[in-house]
Amino acid sequence: MNIPSELNISRRMLMGPGPSDMHPRVLKAMSTPLIGHLDPEFVRVMDEVKEMLQQTLKTSNALTIPVSAPGSAGMETCLINLLEPGDEAVICVNGVFGGRMAEVVERCGAKAIVVEAPWGEPMACEDVRNAVATCAPKLVAVVHAETSTGVLQPLEEIGQIARDANALFVVDAVTSFCGCDLRVDEWGIDALYSGTQKCLSAPPGISPVTFSDRAVDVLASRKTKVQSWFLDLSMLRNYWEGAKRTYHHTAPVSNVFALRAALRLVLEEGLEERFARHRENGELLRDGLEDLGFTYLVAPEFRLPMLHAVKLPDGLDDASVRMRLLNEYNIEVGAGLGPFAGKIWRIGLMGESSSPNHVNALLGALKVLC
Ligand SMILES: *Cc1c(COP(=O)(O)O)cnc(C)c1O
Repeated sequence: MNIPSELNISRRMLMGPGPSDMHPRVLKAMSTPLIGHLDPEFVRVMDEVKEMLQQTLKTSNALTIPVSAPGSAGMETCLINLLEPGDEAVICVNGVFGGRMAEVVERCGAKAIVVEAPWGEPMACEDVRNAVATCAPKLVAVVHAETSTGVLQPLEEIGQIARDANALFVVDAVTSFCGCDLRVDEWGIDALYSGTQKCLSAPPGISPVTFSDRAVDVLASRKTKVQSWFLDLSMLRNYWEGAKRTYHHTAPVSNVFALRAALRLVLEEGLEERFARHRENGELLRDGLEDLGFTYLVAPEFRLPMLHAVKLPDGLDDASVRMRLLNEYNIEVGAGLGPFAGKIWRIGLMGESSSPNHVNALLGALKVLC
């Protein structure tokens, strides 16, 4: 066989639903020479990463660790550890990722009581309250930033509904983390998973998760073994915590170095400043897109600053224009999913990709292509 040529990848501007562009310091950290995953220097890095995750998630939860797999594995980690066969769980579904949670719940042998809202709208708290009243849910789960539709879900009221029912409150913060306000402790979140390749602008492949004391009590009182060996927190946490670290799996050392660099950048910028930057660049993009005839799927008060779901102007051909953006301008934007395929774009301004430079490059290209 012919050996493939030297890797020659185009320099894209990543303006889709993730991954986002990485800061040079994150790229540099990734190319740090490897050390062993039980090397004392790596153990120190692990501790630093956990501490920075607590700060950025606004939590004092001791069980706050980066799972060595992408956001979907963080979703499974939360659900499979908290649920046992026969348990009931209320799952809020208003897009792809809520649907994925319901699918995972069923695979745990638990029963998903699905509450739906139309795609493009947030969940109605009344519907969640009614669903909770029909069962004895062990948890209530919701997506904070639904990347498939661009909807921001207010969390506090649903958290209260869960607490009133003595259920755990589980949140998908894959896209919201480090891009908009997120307060794990203050909002009473019991289990949360995120991802690294969205507003954190680190490489994909790691999922930060955090569990409250209430959730840890539920883990400790399980009667059955967690069905997944790899994601079983009772073993996994010994790898990330405690004085004596023992082999569980081999952490993706280079990705953890990159995650550390990305978290440092977030803390240097400041969380509130970072949220403001996402908001401001989002407004800049919105004004330009509306001038070009794009219209928003979501009502203004529930729009995500980091993911713009927009309907295409009449006559604009989805696939061919996205292809030209990629081939001629090196700009990636996201296509619509499910019922929105061919009808909307999902334009991401996440982390490093949330800059006036990105916005202006996309708007400039669209002025030529539209
Ligand atoms: C991207 C995303 C996921 C899945 O993350 P992967 O890293 O792709 O597995 C889950 N939930 C939401 C809201 C997402 O945006």
